[in-house]
Amino acid sequence: MIVVMEQGAGPDRVQAIEAVVVEWGLRTHVSQGDERTIVGLIGDESNVNVSALEMMAGVDRVMPVLKAYKRASLEFRTERTVVKIPPARHGDRGLTIGGTGVVVMAGPCAVENREMILSLSAFLKGAGAHLLRGGAFKPRTSPYAFQGLGVEGLRYLAEERSVVGLPIITEVMDTRDVEMVAEFADILQVGARNMQNFNLLKVVGRCNRPVMLKRGLANTLEELLMSAEYVINAGNEDVILCERGIRTFETLTRNTLDLSAVPVLKRESHLPVVVDPSHGTGHWDLVAPMARAAVAAGADGLMLEVHPDPAQAISDGPQSLTPKRFKALMGELELVARAVGRNLH
Ligand code: PEP
Ligand code: MN
Repeated sequence: MIVVMEQGAGPDRVQAIEAVVVEWGLRTHVSQGDERTIVGLIGDESNVNVSALEMMAGVDRVMPVLKAYKRASLEFRTERTVVKIPPARHGDRGLTIGGTGVVVMAGPCAVENREMILSLSAFLKGAGAHLLRGGAFKPRTSPYAFQGLGVEGLRYLAEERSVVGLPIITEVMDTRDVEMVAEFADILQVGARNMQNFNLLKVVGRCNRPVMLKRGLANTLEELLMSAEYVINAGNEDVILCERGIRTFETLTRNTLDLSAVPVLKRESHLPVVVDPSHGTGHWDLVAPMARAAVAAGADGLMLEVHPDPAQAISDGPQSLTPKRFKALMGELELVARAVGRNLH
């Protein structure tokens, strides 16, 4: 339920609403729009006296939230979420995701070794990337495939962070690892295969790191938003949504990248939206056109796989850009971003 305040209703009126709502055993979220303030009610609404609320000073109307997702919805909270990433090192600049800048997360599919991480990230940083991606825990279809370096991989990422200075996004697959991965990561990635691992969502929801939630291989956008709801409801409002392609009957691409997800999620939710054209297409030559299209469609960021030698990559080589191609793409993205009133900060 939301309480829409009258235009010009002052903070005292809003506080009075909050006080009665708290008395009824609920919590509130106040959303300060350009013209109006909206007070969102969080919790068991059966105790709410709607007519008492409607009669309070400064209240324009009381409305139910019709969508299944509430706290992730733009109905509930009108100002867009801007996720803040603190500087990796003293003196570096921090980052925001969901503002006017378009953020680029780039790096290998998996952390393969220390040298690769340190030299590739220095290149990526020079080419304008904002965050380093790299999996230490890898969700692999085959149990015989490389499962990632685990904690050793996280240590290389931490070294990169302090030496080169790119903040880290890396995947966490297990509830038992969340606390440990959060010590190394600036953003926790919940992978497509875990989008509906509700226990994992609740645990990352209790952690004080932003979470990037990747759309499941066969999940609807509503289901993605319901998963975001789990994280927010557990206490973590810094959620980033990621479109990474879905399973369809098409075989010439690895997945079908659903770019309409970008404007749909922006219409439905205040959360930032990132697109991953690497997993979304599975082929490096499709990555640049889909990355440009994603920025044109309004994405707040991109996740791109880059490998120093894709032919030798342990995982996802066919969809990885070479460093040279990545650099060329960054130049193109700058132009597309500017054309749609954004920039690659
Ligand atoms: C990844 O980004 O490393 C990954 C495994 O992606 P997804 O979960 O989208 O398959
Ligand atoms: Mn990959």
